[in-house]
Amino acid sequence: MEASLGIQMDEPMAFSPQRDRFQAEGSLKKNEQNFKLAGVKKDIEKLYEAVPQLSNVFKIKDKIGEGTFSSVYLATAQLQVGPEEKIALKHLIPTSHPIRIAAELQCLTVAGGQDNVMGVKYCFRKNDHVVIAMPYLEHESFLDILNSLSFQEVREYMFNLFKALKRIHQFGIVHRDVKPSNFLYNRRLKKYALVDFGLAQGTHDTKIELLKFVQSEAQQERCSQNKSHIITGNKIPLSGPVPKELDQQFTTKASVKRPYTNAQIQIKQGKDGKLMKQSKTVDVLSRKLATKKKAISTKVMNSAVMRKTASSCPASLTCDCYATDKVCSICLSRRQQVAPRAGTPGFRAPEVLTKCPNQTTAIDMWSAGVIFLSLLSGRYPFYKASDDLTALAQIMTIRGSRETIQAAKTFGKSILCSKEVPAQDLRKLCERLRGMDSSTPKLTGDIQGHASHQPAISEKTDHKASCLVQTPPGQYSGNSFKKGDSNSCEHCFDEYNTNLEGWNEVPDEAYDLLDKLLDLNPASRITAEEALLHPFFKDMSL
Ligand code: ADP
Ligand code: MG
Repeated sequence: MEASLGIQMDEPMAFSPQRDRFQAEGSLKKNEQNFKLAGVKKDIEKLYEAVPQLSNVFKIKDKIGEGTFSSVYLATAQLQVGPEEKIALKHLIPTSHPIRIAAELQCLTVAGGQDNVMGVKYCFRKNDHVVIAMPYLEHESFLDILNSLSFQEVREYMFNLFKALKRIHQFGIVHRDVKPSNFLYNRRLKKYALVDFGLAQGTHDTKIELLKFVQSEAQQERCSQNKSHIITGNKIPLSGPVPKELDQQFTTKASVKRPYTNAQIQIKQGKDGKLMKQSKTVDVLSRKLATKKKAISTKVMNSAVMRKTASSCPASLTCDCYATDKVCSICLSRRQQVAPRAGTPGFRAPEVLTKCPNQTTAIDMWSAGVIFLSLLSGRYPFYKASDDLTALAQIMTIRGSRETIQAAKTFGKSILCSKEVPAQDLRKLCERLRGMDSSTPKLTGDIQGHASHQPAISEKTDHKASCLVQTPPGQYSGNSFKKGDSNSCEHCFDEYNTNLEGWNEVPDEAYDLLDKLLDLNPASRITAEEALLHPFFKDMSL
């Protein structure tokens, strides 16, 4: 212990700033831990109070997850004869809309329980508190293991993710929040589970009845035509009949925080519904990019707007800011474009980022592509952006601006981009980021595991992303590290039992699949079913 802290046993007990610092840091950490433990204990007590029937069945041990919309606890239960079972208890925030909750539950009960989709055991409710009890799957932190996974493990991970996506897509569920923290992975047991249907929506022919009330194309259409307001108050207008039982079963007092309709989008739209233009978002981004980064600035418009503005648009509907990086007062006053946009920015597909109203299961495949990009490049998160247009600009630095603009046209969006950036070769990009030079197949760049927590492309560095393309391989300025270097960070390899096998010869099929997942055009993007049959998985069976 002492040795690991660099303190020798026979060190005199005199004043030592070094030791004082360690001690101070140690006690600070301990205090923090105690504080956290006390907080968790309090939360557990509160949960028992809110849903008292839980105490008849479960011993709640710990809090294992806390998000905006729920807290997840680890509990044990004696459910059947035999040993105690580990259970995950998901306590949804009491302000969640009843339909939203019921739809999440229905996804788990109908589609869950097989093919790597999490199932559900029980559900408890008292007043507006709902707790979903699921089998517990102990899992790894993606970031912790990212750079220690063997190539074969990456293949298995992706194969099992597609298995889960094929299953839910067959049920007409669009998950909308596919990312590593929602795909649990137990490396030792080779178990996987897709969780968190809290943002899920249905396809037009969804088999999940309640998803029809959460979102439907028809509703979306109605929403964009009839609703110009953003929901802000306590009353939530439902644009469709709500099953009676549900209405009676749940009571919510507070406002909806988790979107169950698509009414929270920030694009302005003309009163006639024809003219629309990005407003504040564009303004912010243009300013940010124009003044700070001098990189790419983007605008997204309906293609119809472009045509109309350029040709026969009546004077009253045109404005001065077309093709500039300003947003005029006419545009600022336009109504919002309505389209579903839930999810995590770095994982959002181009059609989500551009607020295309017709979104399909293809958006989950894009997100799976971003996960694959992380696995192949060793960087997580790969994209880090706080707003949609920055995220779009980041995608362009990888997939090319011309290609992105071209693809957006196919789904009715026009993107204006201040600078042209070429598409990158995916193999070269991943090898460089991972620290593998394709001509000399060994580690030459960043130490694996060291830089993995740095996003490959972030808001601070995205202007460099295009430079990254131009940087000749070998000049990448990461911490130099060679396999077998005795002074290198050995524990990084020991700790996670790194298996470099297979990384020296990543087959072309891997990048071909990645390319098909990151297809900018959702209509031609590979489906989960097709991905499972891709040559990359040739010797794997369902
Ligand atoms: P949220 O909607 O708050 O994101 P999730 O359903 O994604 O809720 O759960 C949050 C976290 O809780 C997950 O990232 C995971 O770490 C943990 N978790 C959720 N379900 C389970 C489960 N069945 N077994 C183990 N851990 C789980
Ligand atoms: Mg989640």
